[in-house]
Amino acid sequence: MTDKVHQVCINPDCGATYGIDEILFSCTRCRSLLDIAYDWDRLAVPHSLNFFEHRWGTKGLGAQGRLDFSGVWRFRELMPFVGPESVVTIGEGRTLLEQNDTLGRELGMKPERLFLQYEGLNPSGSFKDNGMTAAFSLARKLGRKRVACASTGNTSASVAMYAHKSDPPMQGIVFIGTGKIAYGKLSQALDYGALTLQIQGDFDACLRRVMQVSDKLGIYLMNSVNPYRLEGQKAIMYRVLQARDWEVPDWIIVPGGNLGNCSAFGKAFAELRALGLVDRIPRLAIINATGANTLYQLVEQQKVVWNGGRYDRDKVTAFYADLDARNYLPHTIASAIEISRPVNLPKSLRAVEIMNGLIREVSDEVILEHKALVGRYGFGCEPASAATVAGLRLLREQQVISPDDRVVCILTGHELKDPDATVKYHTGIDMKSVTPPPAVPPTGRAANPPIQVADDLEAICAALGETLPE
Ligand SMILES: *Cc1c(COP(=O)(O)O)cnc(C)c1O
Ligand SMILES: [Zn+2]
Repeated sequence: MTDKVHQVCINPDCGATYGIDEILFSCTRCRSLLDIAYDWDRLAVPHSLNFFEHRWGTKGLGAQGRLDFSGVWRFRELMPFVGPESVVTIGEGRTLLEQNDTLGRELGMKPERLFLQYEGLNPSGSFKDNGMTAAFSLARKLGRKRVACASTGNTSASVAMYAHKSDPPMQGIVFIGTGKIAYGKLSQALDYGALTLQIQGDFDACLRRVMQVSDKLGIYLMNSVNPYRLEGQKAIMYRVLQARDWEVPDWIIVPGGNLGNCSAFGKAFAELRALGLVDRIPRLAIINATGANTLYQLVEQQKVVWNGGRYDRDKVTAFYADLDARNYLPHTIASAIEISRPVNLPKSLRAVEIMNGLIREVSDEVILEHKALVGRYGFGCEPASAATVAGLRLLREQQVISPDDRVVCILTGHELKDPDATVKYHTGIDMKSVTPPPAVPPTGRAANPPIQVADDLEAICAALGETLPE
């Protein structure tokens, strides 16, 4: 192997390697997922994370400035698979880590212990931009003209945006299913000009189709089986560390859908440790929705573990066969994690091992309640993101997380992605119905319904708890 960077099969019994320019989304020998692997000894790697410190405040001017301005590419030495001339960036990753003591208190945490990482502040409103900038940069290097994805919403929004922001522009093709899609996300794909195909099937079906079609037509695939996306998503962890002055927190909590994000976090920390850039690794909690809990069932109930890559494939196969036999369709209000066949399952098992992780499941009711709390005490988030805070509540109750632990919840998507879910929670009114059904009074514990008042000064004052002054 002479290349400093290559693709490698994650199955240790295979270990096939491929050049970085080969367009593959699984190992041609054994069908396993691929990783991007670096020969760090032959690459220029910083000796300390402080190396990255000064780039934070860059304005984005000039060739280097453009890279430093990005919250992904300012860490380019930790993902050196593409040269600056190919990078497609629009200033993604300038996101915030908020210390939130009021929400922390609500969850039984001590002050200065709970941090919310708002990835909804990315240009397209979700963490997906971290990965897209990376995968689009490779697509540009390879001269690809068309890119495609299957999506529960945010991937398509991000693909659609990066496709027309690339130079030269690419055509973005989006496969959506008949399952839930939040209008905030669909509206973005349409507005950004993606060719949008609605397939009669759920997300898992869409993903199978887009993989077939991309393969047959030579379209570049942008789902998280694309290993370059996960390289970009490592930067979420680098930014969390930077915002904490390079201090490693005790816990990272992330929602689990297709399991790309948690997998990227595991790889980020494995590499940082191998490079001697961190002295310890935070624990990882991956939160599933109850109605889409494949990882929870496999890891927590069936005790499937990574085991150096020799995980119990028979158990996984049997689990999926059972889903098929029951015609099982995942169902949760958190549409971004409504996935029952997560493509990155093996990589997520590896991340669980690297980060001493665990999995929990939370119900839609609890997700929505915690979404309302993130809104009440913070800047808000979409339902899937709130699974993290709901998971923290559960882990506090189970005394797995202590009030003293430093906890970072990754809020993956913006509050305004799915306003229907929010309005329905607070008012009981289903905004998606053409003829709204009679409002059912909201039942959620944190619901904050609007109050109906007559167009009358006295009545308005009464609603404010005041009487009209004489
Ligand atoms: C895509 C997405 C997820 C799921 O992330 P995975 O990497 O697929 O596990 C969670 N939340 C939001 C808002 C998303 O867009
Ligand atoms: Zn292989």
